[in-house]
Amino acid sequence: MITDLVQIQRLGEKKLKENELFRRHMKAHYFPERQFRHVAEEIEDKIDCRACANCCKVAETNISERDVEKLARFLRITPKQFIAEYTTMSVQEEEEEELILRRTDAGCIFLDGNDCSIYEARPDTCSNFPHLIRGAGSIQSRMWQMIDRATYCPIVYNSLEKYKEIVGFKAPKS
Ligand code: SF4
Ligand code: SF4
Repeated sequence: MITDLVQIQRLGEKKLKENELFRRHMKAHYFPERQFRHVAEEIEDKIDCRACANCCKVAETNISERDVEKLARFLRITPKQFIAEYTTMSVQEEEEEELILRRTDAGCIFLDGNDCSIYEARPDTCSNFPHLIRGAGSIQSRMWQMIDRATYCPIVYNSLEKYKEIVGFKAPKS
């Protein structure tokens, strides 16, 4: 299993095209979900997310109205104050504006070293990250997000490699 973040980035980027083909393969076939969840659970158990924290450093964090209310209560401020102080809008290509947590040069505004300073009240997307074990819809339907995540998250990178073995996916020779 690869956990070194430099290697994960290099290999994840090298496999962008392969992983896109794998995503299409997953979409075009039916595979029982349980095996994929089981693999991701096993890999997650072997990885120390507190030592990694790479998702908090590199990825934007979308937040819902429910997250805003929960976090405002946790910080003892109003939802309006929370939005003004801790959020901004993200404009992603071909997508609508979305409310995200503000970021600093080090990553998420709530990242303190490798720790989340609002851990008990963190947004749902953070609790469910990287969305291979927990998340809305099937793993197949969430695969499009995994191609990018495989460039920075060891759980995703290693899970995708194992999924390919399970379903017998071979990358076409280039
Ligand atoms: S809220 Fe906490 S868990 Fe979520 S991205 Fe920020 S630091 Fe990480
Ligand atoms: S979810 Fe992935 S990127 Fe985030 S801390 Fe865990 S291993 Fe690292």
